[in-house]
Amino acid sequence: MTRAETRRAPQDFERVLSSMCTDPHPAAREAAERFLATNPGDPETYPTVADLEREAVAMLGDVVALDDPHGYVAAGGTEANLQAVRAARNLADGDVNVVAPESAHFSFQKAADVLDVELRLAPTDDDHRADIDAVVDLADDDTAVVVGVAGTTEYGRVDPIPALADVAADVGARLHVDAAWGGFFLPFTDHDWSFSDAPVDTMTIDPHKVGQAPVPAGGFLARDPETLDALAIATPYLESDTQPTLGGTRSGGGVAGAHAVLSELWPGGYREQYERSQANADYLAAELSARGYDVVDPELPLVAADLPDDEFHALRDEGWRISRTASDALRVVCMPHVTREMLDAFLVDVDAVA
Ligand code: PLP
Repeated sequence: MTRAETRRAPQDFERVLSSMCTDPHPAAREAAERFLATNPGDPETYPTVADLEREAVAMLGDVVALDDPHGYVAAGGTEANLQAVRAARNLADGDVNVVAPESAHFSFQKAADVLDVELRLAPTDDDHRADIDAVVDLADDDTAVVVGVAGTTEYGRVDPIPALADVAADVGARLHVDAAWGGFFLPFTDHDWSFSDAPVDTMTIDPHKVGQAPVPAGGFLARDPETLDALAIATPYLESDTQPTLGGTRSGGGVAGAHAVLSELWPGGYREQYERSQANADYLAAELSARGYDVVDPELPLVAADLPDDEFHALRDEGWRISRTASDALRVVCMPHVTREMLDAFLVDVDAVA
């Protein structure tokens, strides 16, 4: 790649319909650039970014309605999910297992592999949510953590979190909610649980997805300080005593970007974004349905629809960045950069390739 090419805008979002990341908010870009050379992994040397991280975690606590949250800005949802499993394993005795719906993100497979725990995947129901009876069948006294997903990667579904909390309580397991993608939409929906009233132990909520922060900015939150204690490793050569994070040196840009955009958008800006994105998803679902495609009703702003193979590939050839679920349904993620005009242009091409 030539130097001129590397100076080009690296990403144009005009035809990106599959990504769970988005064009970062201008305030977040600016803050990320200013803090690029800082390392929140070394808080005594870089105290300003360490303060920003504490404030970012407090704001993430506001988003999920958790008073006094404990956590940090992770590299992404994968790290946050792995840390949730790691904390649960470290707090349990002996060989443990993790029970998750099969809709859980593949990061749980990485976590199980790295941490050497058994991952038990429960089938989902006809509406792509965790099947509670199947979760009950798989959970036992060795279950360290039950996982629920609030905004699944493929269908944008929210699992029945209170029922999963009951299953976890019955077997003495912890409850982790993966809201990596859905977390910034949930406060504006009428879901029937929150961190405060359901016994959720840990949660993933990523600023670098719907939060509109630059990558890397994942969010790992815990209700109790004991969770971070269970992750802490002594750091002899640093001035701080221990580190709960998986990464050592981390991006100050990610932390500062998350802090800036949360300060800017929570709550009003995120509410407006949710309303726009959900309206776009409802619109696309209705338009595809009217054209005879089988569409999964979008609970959150993600539309899944059956699209013949040749049409899918023809749309990709037109430059549309679209992807498919494991069962080959088209998925369109209505992220903040996805506008009604983009969807209209997409529909023109859908008609052309039909
Ligand atoms: N959890 C969910 C629900 C996701 O959708 C994703 C990614 O899309 C992840 C976790 C992993 O996040 P990351 O790619 O930031 O590691």
